[in-house]
Amino acid sequence: MSGPDARPAEKNSALACTTCPRRCRLAPGALGACRARRNVGGAIVAESYGRVTSLALDPVEKKPLARYLPGTLVVSVGSYGCNLTCPFCQNWEIAQAGEKDVRWRTVAPDELVAATLEARRRDPRVFGIAHTYNEPLVAWEYVRDCAELAHEAGLANVLVSNGCCEPGVLDALDGLIDAANIDLKGFSDAFYASCGGTSRSLACVRGTIERLAADPRCHLEVTTLVVPGMNDGEAEMEGLASWLASLDGGRARETLTHHVTRFFPHWRLTDRGPTPVADVYRLADVSRRHLAHVFVGNC
Ligand code: SF4
Repeated sequence: MSGPDARPAEKNSALACTTCPRRCRLAPGALGACRARRNVGGAIVAESYGRVTSLALDPVEKKPLARYLPGTLVVSVGSYGCNLTCPFCQNWEIAQAGEKDVRWRTVAPDELVAATLEARRRDPRVFGIAHTYNEPLVAWEYVRDCAELAHEAGLANVLVSNGCCEPGVLDALDGLIDAANIDLKGFSDAFYASCGGTSRSLACVRGTIERLAADPRCHLEVTTLVVPGMNDGEAEMEGLASWLASLDGGRARETLTHHVTRFFPHWRLTDRGPTPVADVYRLADVSRRHLAHVFVGNC
């Protein structure tokens, strides 16, 4: 095995997981906060590897990707688990769940690629595989293994992620992701703390976005869900959008796509109504002061 969690066996020691900034210290047999990774036999492994809870054929626009192969379809696969605990989680049934909370079946990388090729044989609009629904990077090894086989088969790879990972994960996926939608949920450490993040979470997300924005092999779009009372201030959107526009030497202003989307009450955040549509449009206009391609969603 290669990648950020590869290390010599220390069967009786606690190990720090290096996949994300939570840096869970896991005793032998212990499960990480994401409920996807475990210390097994002296190594931290993705226990959720290949455990599929959701498999669907989606329009690419649903990921959302607004400016990547419009009109096409993508096989979308999800498992369970996440390294954040956003109280407004829109996919909490699988993202805020462990192996015993959901129904899953094992789909090996070669099976997923074969199923995608079969889907493409039936409908030539199918272009590839999207890792989505829960947080894919808590089992980045599955993303990597599927993506390598998908490229060999002439398929493209899409990543839909919170982007909250250590740089070693991106090293392991280098050159494998053709398009990505990364959440930039807010623009303060306090906001990420309210999502169960650490003091380094926003920095890690920014690092992921910065790196993908500068990678000519990857088409990048970014999503910000506007939650009333949490991140609906114009100053925060101004800072966020101007930072996005500055990426890749300022070229991101024309290349990067920003989705400003509407919140609906979910999971632990049911004390307020959906984001007023006017607020979503107002904040999208703030983003448009900096970026050429801004879309509203869920309105
Ligand atoms: S990926 Fe999971 S186990 Fe690893 S540090 Fe993050 S939350 Fe903990």
